[in-house]
Amino acid sequence: MDEALSPASGWIEVICGSMYSGKTEELIRRLRRAQIARQRVEIFKPAIDARYAADQIVSHSLQSIPSRNIKDARDILQYADEAQVIGIDEAQFLGPELPAVCERLANSGKRVIVAGLDQDYLGKPFDPMPELLAIAEYITKTLAICVVCGAPANRTYRTVADVAARVVVGGTELYEARCRRCYESKAPSPAPPSAAGGPAPHS
Ligand code: ADP
Ligand code: ZN
Repeated sequence: MDEALSPASGWIEVICGSMYSGKTEELIRRLRRAQIARQRVEIFKPAIDARYAADQIVSHSLQSIPSRNIKDARDILQYADEAQVIGIDEAQFLGPELPAVCERLANSGKRVIVAGLDQDYLGKPFDPMPELLAIAEYITKTLAICVVCGAPANRTYRTVADVAARVVVGGTELYEARCRRCYESKAPSPAPPSAAGGPAPHS
């Protein structure tokens, strides 16, 4: 067979960073563009993360895109056959088989875009993200803004000290974005803008 007629190679893109760093926004942006170009797109997220909706990926800025809930990485293979582009959010909850699943999809010619937390709330690498980063063709590291000092924030700080489990799904009531210095110093969380009576925040 003429090589020019065989399917083009696929690849893996990883979007990683702390909570609120814009991983989901960036994932949605890339997937929307693919949909606009009429590519066949399948989008997945773990069932564990049903904070906003069971059948959509929703960013903290409330952008959304329809998605399919799955229990673990192997479920993706059931729905991926026809897809040209695969989007996966909250990858850190999809288990140790995710890198092998992504490899298989990319090897079969698909563009695989994976977003996930690279560190847990203790600042430790969040499996299986390190392995995914090692095998990806493209890596985007997103940063939030430290809520204490305004520096680039690459850590997720858990504001409730008496919860020790690695996985506790939550939002601003449990987690905030901090730079490494404010993460280590454990400085008190700032009061929300409304309580402080200050002007509305700009993004
Ligand atoms: P992630 O998927 O990385 O958790 P999202 O894409 O869901 O992030 O949300 C990013 C949005 O979160 C920003 O556009 C902004 O509206 C909001 N946000 C809340 N807190 C912060 C912060 N400390 N720094 C930057 N953005 C923040
Ligand atoms: Zn800081």
